[in-house]
Amino acid sequence: MLQQAQDYLKKYFGYTSFRKGQDQIIANIIAGKDTLGIMPTGGGKSICYQIPALIFPGITIVISPLISLMKDQTDTLTALGIPATFINSTLSQGEVNQRLGQADDGRYKLLYIAPERFESELFFSWIRSLPISMFAIDEAHCISQWGHDFRPSYQTIASVIEALPNRPIISAFTATATPEVIRDIETILDLKGNTFITGFQRENLVYSVVRGENKRDVVLQVLEDNPDQSGIIYASTRKEVQLLYDFLLLKGYRAGMYHGGMNEQERERNQDQFIYDEIQVMVATNAFGMGIDKSNVRFVIHYNLPKNMEAYVQEAGRAGRDGEPSQCILLFHPQDIQIQKFLIEQSVSHEERKKQEYEKLQIMVDYCHTQQCLSNYILQYFGETGHEECGTCSNCSEESELVDRTIEAQKVFSCIVRMQERYGVTMIAKVLKGSLDKKLLQFRLHHLSTYGLLKQHTEKEISDFIHWLVAEDYLMLAGGKFPIVKLRPPAKAVLLRQESVYRKVRKRKQVFAQDEVLFQHLRELRKQLAEEAQVPPYVIFADSTLREMCESLPGNRMDMLNVKGVGEVKYEKYGAQFLAVIQSYLQEHP
Ligand code: ADP
Ligand code: MG
Ligand code: ZN
Repeated sequence: MLQQAQDYLKKYFGYTSFRKGQDQIIANIIAGKDTLGIMPTGGGKSICYQIPALIFPGITIVISPLISLMKDQTDTLTALGIPATFINSTLSQGEVNQRLGQADDGRYKLLYIAPERFESELFFSWIRSLPISMFAIDEAHCISQWGHDFRPSYQTIASVIEALPNRPIISAFTATATPEVIRDIETILDLKGNTFITGFQRENLVYSVVRGENKRDVVLQVLEDNPDQSGIIYASTRKEVQLLYDFLLLKGYRAGMYHGGMNEQERERNQDQFIYDEIQVMVATNAFGMGIDKSNVRFVIHYNLPKNMEAYVQEAGRAGRDGEPSQCILLFHPQDIQIQKFLIEQSVSHEERKKQEYEKLQIMVDYCHTQQCLSNYILQYFGETGHEECGTCSNCSEESELVDRTIEAQKVFSCIVRMQERYGVTMIAKVLKGSLDKKLLQFRLHHLSTYGLLKQHTEKEISDFIHWLVAEDYLMLAGGKFPIVKLRPPAKAVLLRQESVYRKVRKRKQVFAQDEVLFQHLRELRKQLAEEAQVPPYVIFADSTLREMCESLPGNRMDMLNVKGVGEVKYEKYGAQFLAVIQSYLQEHP
């Protein structure tokens, strides 16, 4: 039977081999056992139930909380030649009845359903009569109160399934589960002993933490390094989202915005524009994401510190679902800790829980300061040890040199002392620059001996440097809205010449110019086909598939079917057109 699974993988999905864990999970399911699969985002959970669904005689019911994704998911399956549909609240009663009727007639192998349906008696009496082979429960962490996205209606699923005359097989899947959540899922669904954990490692994600640099500059740099590539920028407040969004528009980027303060229509429109590659970067609060299955997100930037590791891994994990190298960048500034503390104070009343949240936040802050491999740090948090260093994260790879900044730091510190630790970053920078700012003159700060000490630098460079000194714990920001800069003990040691200040400066990585022309041509064709079929571009082919076409330059049907992601049905639909583009490109560029 596993041979059949293998054949279907090639025939329908166009892949030659299973990924880590997929074969074991599929073998267990088709042997008729209930199964829980824990796999990282982008690890390929869908195939683990889709292939058994094709093998089983009856229908498979897929339960998913991601209503906004169901259409995409079933469109994707239909494009692969797999009969599938969905039922959720976006349909009229007429449409629902029609689909139920078609399911009764055996027209579908997979039926996607929102969990809420399981609370309806009518629905139960209908599914009783269906020949159901399997229930596949996606995003299974929603079943647990300990999960980060608990959905009460998930808890009714188990009893509904138990009450069916012939109990079907249950398979459940999730990416983000702490041991606690895993135990919960096992108990509620009664799955013990058939849990497969393939690990949390996402080898294609490149993690970096950036401290003490101007955040906007970093964002612009990332956008410049990734022309026309999709990305998400998360910020912690609506206001910050708005400011950054305005800034990016001003700089000429195709940016979109998403936060809880916008109305549903606006949000949905922006989300669709992002999914359909109409906008390049989405600036959003954490309200954005549940429901994003876009496979070609090339970077996720956290403009502010997230509240904990679970949230970070989930949000950053939206990068690179297609397996292509993608960046997860966290921009750290000590002030962001205050925002998170404030949010904890606002939202958590239970004392014990509050303590827990503070501990989780501290782990997140430690992530920003660790010298260790970032990927390993994350894996350890989820209980995985013994991995080799990733070699790609900012701690592993950074080609950096240490530059002695002791003199400049002393100038900054003594200026702060002269200003009696009573001013904020901006004013200190102005004094060091020797600015003729009106307020500065009014406060008579131009008489200080440190006035103009760093005049060869720009004011922005000076304030970035001060922020870096804050990030490195030489200085602290005190007070709320207009924080004042104060010295911390390490700064005093520097002033006394007992310690030196070294700044790690990144050597800019050399960017190799890849031939992008063909890739762009293929993307254009994909976009055009997607518009005709009214599906997102990645439903036609994933970025990784187009990349492989650029590398292997297929010249005929056989070559094309060897490209990862090209199955028979897709070849029949689109193969010839992509071949034609490649051939004409080769004629122009022999
Ligand atoms: P998740 O585990 O996050 O639900 P998906 O099921 O959406 O992941 O799969 C992520 C991507 O990986 C999809 O584009 C899918 O087609 C691809 N994929 C899954 N299995 C394989 C495989 N065996 N070989 C190559 N690509 C695969
Ligand atoms: Mg999934
Ligand atoms: Zn590393």
